[in-house]
Amino acid sequence: MPANKLEESGTAWPQPAALERLRYFDQRQSDIEQTVRELVEIESPSDNKDAVDRIAAFLAERFKALGGRVQMHPSAEFGDSLQVDFHGAPGSLNGKPVLLLGHYDTVYPLGTLENMPCKIENGKMRGPGVLDMKSGIALMLHAIDALRNWHGELPRPVTVFLVSDEEVGSYSSRKITEALATQSAGVLVLEPAAGLRGAVKTARKGVGEYLLAVKGIASHAGLDPGKGHSAIVELARQITVISKFNNLGQGISVNPGVISGGTRTNVVAAQASVGIDVRIKRAKQAAAIDRKLRSIRAFDKKCGLEMTGNINRLPMERTKGVAALYAKARKIASQARWKLEEAAVGGGSDGNFTAGLGIPTLDGMGGVGDGAHAVHEFIVISELPRRALLLAGMIESV
Ligand SMILES: [Zn+2]
Repeated sequence: MPANKLEESGTAWPQPAALERLRYFDQRQSDIEQTVRELVEIESPSDNKDAVDRIAAFLAERFKALGGRVQMHPSAEFGDSLQVDFHGAPGSLNGKPVLLLGHYDTVYPLGTLENMPCKIENGKMRGPGVLDMKSGIALMLHAIDALRNWHGELPRPVTVFLVSDEEVGSYSSRKITEALATQSAGVLVLEPAAGLRGAVKTARKGVGEYLLAVKGIASHAGLDPGKGHSAIVELARQITVISKFNNLGQGISVNPGVISGGTRTNVVAAQASVGIDVRIKRAKQAAAIDRKLRSIRAFDKKCGLEMTGNINRLPMERTKGVAALYAKARKIASQARWKLEEAAVGGGSDGNFTAGLGIPTLDGMGGVGDGAHAVHEFIVISELPRRALLLAGMIESV
């Protein structure tokens, strides 16, 4: 489209409305920062139900104050997940809601704030979960607030779903995510953007987790070495087999990431195991890699092998629906004189579930920064206004 080309080359004037909106969010940058800080300072590790329920309750109040209808989805084992529904203005053209998807659990144990306090330095805000993905949740709140200010009420129905267990596989929330996605016109995932240029994510690899357990026969390493059948030796041989399943050219990676086994150095090991991370680029690769992993046979016939696990998240592929959402996002960005890039990434998110159902999904709509899950995790605070602008524009146009 020639018009787009002009905009992107910077020779056309951006739409005044877009710049006005950007100014609106620029003026509120410190409010957005404050919300991010409040969320970071409520620690919420996935494995601590009380802590996760605390942030769920806090957010329920915040969304209620914006006019949302709040529904808590209880979980016995994990924290509760939070659904918030907003009615669109009467007569809104598109009856289907847009689904804003995120998670409030983090990978950081309680007490992390002591060594990793939430603070702003050199234009960066640091703290546990600030990038992944408490800034994304803050953007939801502020984009919805802005749309209500601009339009009187939301221009279309919006459903927010914030899950409690994304960092540990989304086992308690997956079915709800999938049901809500099926009812929606499209899904915007507020996971962090890719890289410091803030690209949105239009493809993600699929993720599997497997465990290979080996049973051997123990014996005294000094008195009866010949009687033992070492689970550790068998495991080591199997690991060399499994590593050959890597096919980086095809986007398939297989990583034996954690091993354990044995009891003492003077005992031939009776058991050993390896945890394996598997990534695939295309959904159709799932069955073949699963079959390969399950088809390994013991070298030492006295050893037993047991492979458990599966491909938990199918890849988010760059379908036509995904590409169309990206085109809309790029247009909104270009109106504010910003060239929004796209990226394909190796990590999975709940966006894999929704895209796997064929629902148009755009991921990486959240904060811009680096160091997710690491001690240097941060967001670039000057990026917050235009991320809010992008989200608000996408809520209107999905
Ligand atoms: Zn995340």
